[in-house]
Amino acid sequence: LTILGIESSCDDTGAALVRATDGAAPEILANIVASQTELHAAFGGVVPEIAARAHAEKLDLVIEQALGQARLTLRDLDAIAVTAGPGLIGGVLSGVMTAKGLCAATGLPLVGVNHLAGHALTPRLTDGLEFPYLILLVSGGHCQFLRVDGPESFSRLGGTIDDAPGEAFDKCAKLLGLPQPGGPAVETEARQGDPARFAFPRPLLDRPGCDLSFSGLKTALMRARDAVVAEKGGLTRQDRADLCAGFQAAIADVLAEKARRALSQCPGITAFAVAGGVAANTVLRQRLTAVAGDLPFVAPPLALCTDNAAMIAWAGLERLRLGARDDMTLSARPRWPLDTAAAPLIGSGK
Ligand code: ATP
Ligand code: FE
Repeated sequence: LTILGIESSCDDTGAALVRATDGAAPEILANIVASQTELHAAFGGVVPEIAARAHAEKLDLVIEQALGQARLTLRDLDAIAVTAGPGLIGGVLSGVMTAKGLCAATGLPLVGVNHLAGHALTPRLTDGLEFPYLILLVSGGHCQFLRVDGPESFSRLGGTIDDAPGEAFDKCAKLLGLPQPGGPAVETEARQGDPARFAFPRPLLDRPGCDLSFSGLKTALMRARDAVVAEKGGLTRQDRADLCAGFQAAIADVLAEKARRALSQCPGITAFAVAGGVAANTVLRQRLTAVAGDLPFVAPPLALCTDNAAMIAWAGLERLRLGARDDMTLSARPRWPLDTAAAPLIGSGK
């Protein structure tokens, strides 16, 4: 089976081709991502209208590029998978309309995919994980623990009640005058820092369960920074490094402890996986590897951890194998909790 995946739910326009042959590892034939980062840079965040227009302009192009790179035409495909939510509605709509147009023209089956299912199923594409496994989605917009029992069967064990860790890293960088995206910048600074110099809270550790909170860390950072500035009139390189190290340690501590709890709620799983841009963080990876203990710890390559269309093609393929199909009534959804994906994904087809 060869499937085209289309992704346009946030600020990356993606098209990818994935091929799966029974008994062999799946192959990514092409994985094109056109980033809109520069378009939104001046606004300090993703502007939905600009994103939607850029997706509409870029979709045809990235699809053509993906087909060109794989040396395939639409005739070689078995289906088209598209992110149908959750995400910025204008972008999701652009993708869904493009996919419907291509399916109408070619007669190919259409498969709607939940973006989060794409992230959550990626370790099966990259590492061939068997169900069930636990995954931590940790990105700029998401933070949740999911037990994955099948291509359409997810249980959410807990997640953030406010900010996502990536967002927290980005705000930390902003408060300290470091470049965006904040995660890599904070991690680099933290290498020279003392994580014990400033006392950061460990939010929600005193409460049972796997929920997390990160907005308080930002306030703590602001206070610590202001105290240093009030005392010395400014921040030295070392102050900044110590603040970053303390901030990063707090995030890693909280995620590690909640991961330990999530794992204890999932007897019989085959592995512990991560996805999302924050999974690039070395300190966090080390902590999570330790928590996993004897269980395999799986972190897909970064390009497949962040938003991409290969994961959408793959998740579409998994749905297709279950016999799932959508039709022209497939709708774009701004919200779409993954947990209900255990029920029919979309109110159509199947
Ligand atoms: P989503 O996929 O949830 O819609 P997103 O597109 O913002 O959100 P990703 O592209 O998966 O998320 O990841 C980007 C985030 O990852 C940014 O917030 C960035 O700061 C963070 N990040 C990247 N590298 C690191 C790192 N080394 N340490 C910590 N955070 C990092
Ligand atoms: Fe994403």
